Amino acid sequence: MSQQPFLPFSKPVIDEATIAAVGDVLRSGWITSGPKVQAFEAQLSEYFGGRPVRTFNSGTCTMEIALRIAGIGAGDEVITTPISWVATANVILEVGATSVFADIDPITRNIDLDRLEAAITPRTKAIIPVYLAGLPLDMDRLYGIARKHGLRIVEDAAQALGSSWKGQRIGATGDFVSFSFQANKNVTCSEGGCLVLNSAQEARLAEKYRLQGVTRSGFDGLDVDVLGGKFNMTDIAAAIGLGQFAGIEAITAHRRLLAHHYFECFGRDFEARYGAQLPPADFTQSNWHLFQLVLPERADGKPARATFMEKMQALGVGVGYHYPPIHLLSLYRERGFKEGMFPVAERVGRLIVSLPMFSSMSTDDVERVVAAVKAVLQK
Ligand SMILES: *Cc1c(COP(=O)(O)O)cnc(C)c1O
Repeated sequence: MSQQPFLPFSKPVIDEATIAAVGDVLRSGWITSGPKVQAFEAQLSEYFGGRPVRTFNSGTCTMEIALRIAGIGAGDEVITTPISWVATANVILEVGATSVFADIDPITRNIDLDRLEAAITPRTKAIIPVYLAGLPLDMDRLYGIARKHGLRIVEDAAQALGSSWKGQRIGATGDFVSFSFQANKNVTCSEGGCLVLNSAQEARLAEKYRLQGVTRSGFDGLDVDVLGGKFNMTDIAAAIGLGQFAGIEAITAHRRLLAHHYFECFGRDFEARYGAQLPPADFTQSNWHLFQLVLPERADGKPARATFMEKMQALGVGVGYHYPPIHLLSLYRERGFKEGMFPVAERVGRLIVSLPMFSSMSTDDVERVVAAVKAVLQK
């Protein structure tokens, strides 16, 4: 047994100034959406080159609201990847549209753009691309496909705050771009999300959808003209978000350093020797939200991932898995999806593991993880 403390695969790191800022909000007499939310939205908007940004209480409802603003509903098809958090596909069903999947690329583990284009039909209205682990897609090709077929894009950039494509921040360009501030994300506000929009008009509609469709005017004027919900972020959450967001550059830089150290420690012969697959070695564009290996199948027929996770845990190292293929979950099987439809996603979804990666981790921690991985995968 390991003598060192258990190393989780992810851990939120909240500094004392942020904790104090939350205390200030709690003492202020205004604990729901207010000045902190406005300040957070203003900072995010500046970060994304001045584009309109609105915050919400999750990164899931941000995508649902984007689909509603785009007018997507019953009879429409939306294409996404089978390897994401189930939220990505659920929001399509939530607005009454049909979820369509396209298989992933085995190297990037993101949606395969050739297969995406092949899945387009006359009913396709939108694409929800996902940047798994923070690794962007080929954005030129993605937007080229959308333009050619007249499709909206709702980028599920939940994992990609701080990532970029050819020097442009994810969120600073494109159509709708959705981020999550859930507890495990690079920047958290405990729970929350934000949506980057294209115009003041879309931002106004987003405000309605997040609060019961309400428009206020004068001292006591109130009207409702669209069916909205209750998706507003609180000032408590925004205070956490502001404190976290101030560290975005340092957080991203440290994660890239950790990722680089992972590659150094695994060494050039790791894949050939152990049969596991490393992620693409991108140290300029990805924000390294996750560091993911695809494990080899086991010769003895035992389930490779469960066995690996159990042995790593015994060595004091936490391992996550992101994600099981969405199309094989019961809700989606009921809609006609089954094994064999997306073979790459099915293999990756069965064998992918997320190794520890968070902003207070040290390079010593990385060395400990790599030693454990090699010990566990040793024949
Ligand atoms: C975290 C995450 C979401 C959902 O965000 P919440 O804030 O938990 O609603 C959606 N998609 C991906 C890829 C995520 O990682």
